[in-house]
Amino acid sequence: MKRFTTAISNMLSNDIGIDLGTANTLVYVSGKGIVLNEPSVVAVNQKTGRVVAVGAQAKAMLGRTPAHIVAVRPLVDGVISDFEVTEEMIAYLIRKAEESSKKMLGPKVVVGVPTGITNVERRAVRDATKNAGARDVYIVEEPMAAAVGIHLPIKEAVGSMIIDIGGGTSDIAVISLGGIVRSKSLKIAGDKLNTDIISYIRSEFKILIGEKTAETMKMAIGAVLPANPPLEVAIRGRDLVTGLPREVVITDSDLREAIGGSIDNLIEAVKQVLETTPPEILSDIMHKGVYLVGGGALIKGLRELLQDYIGIPVYVGEDPLTAVARGTGIILEDLDEYQEILIQNEDDLPPKR
Ligand code: ADP
Ligand code: MG
Repeated sequence: MKRFTTAISNMLSNDIGIDLGTANTLVYVSGKGIVLNEPSVVAVNQKTGRVVAVGAQAKAMLGRTPAHIVAVRPLVDGVISDFEVTEEMIAYLIRKAEESSKKMLGPKVVVGVPTGITNVERRAVRDATKNAGARDVYIVEEPMAAAVGIHLPIKEAVGSMIIDIGGGTSDIAVISLGGIVRSKSLKIAGDKLNTDIISYIRSEFKILIGEKTAETMKMAIGAVLPANPPLEVAIRGRDLVTGLPREVVITDSDLREAIGGSIDNLIEAVKQVLETTPPEILSDIMHKGVYLVGGGALIKGLRELLQDYIGIPVYVGEDPLTAVARGTGIILEDLDEYQEILIQNEDDLPPKR
């Protein structure tokens, strides 16, 4: 009977899962999969306070806008607590999801949020999602959603460790019996590596490069272990002395030097979490390994380097950039099954860890 009523309700409405990442926002529609994957950027008209564009369209405006239009990254710049911006962003996402699907009768929405956001921000997300037309809103912490997305046995009495290296934050979480047992969120992730690269190129080559160039370089030749054969790219930037464009060749060893400090800090944080993990769970993790997700999981050599340092097998989760969104989808399709991992009411938030 339950299966039958679920089938009927699925015919009447498509429910939505949203991964509100610091760098990328993904939207999952039940029965369809991921229908939207856009940068988490919102363009706001400062004169009117209105959102003028969201996603790729807003990102294209970065650096090209008239003075009164600013492109912001809501989860990095703290705008998520700005209710109107958040609401417009979420309304936009729900609208887009509806366009790609049949009309929705007030969809149920599962939203993945970073573990680091404040209660005020979390409440803003919930209220904004409701106001944007959602029938019911379920909030899930992103590491938990990612663990579901890559099919870790989160509800069993077996501990798992998942490390989500995103744009603004890296979240390290130990999960057992449907709860987050230990966690740490740090602001060392993809964005920090980009600024590390910008500073290094400025001090070593006396050239100023932009964020985009740094990120492209990081993805193309960034490797935390020496690449064989060595990797290199030619990049153009502004010569700090002459003020004119100049081209230089950068190698993977330059990038390793640039991001080395941040990578060390990240590994140190993982060690700290392992050190405070209860022994039984630690023993599970040693057997089952540690899983990397998020865009940072794709940094060449990171898996091997981390594995060497902690002496525990490390794996890259399947399709690491979409793990959280797929997890929200799996949760949506079976809300009863995942009830206990969802934060439904701010008044019964899990105790602070
Ligand atoms: P968030 O969940 O915070 O939105 P994502 O998981 O989408 O973040 O990851 C985005 C980050 O991953 C960006 O900083 C991006 O530069 C980085 N990234 C994406 N692909 C790669 C890659 N192949 N190598 C290194 N970094 C990558
Ligand atoms: Mg993420």
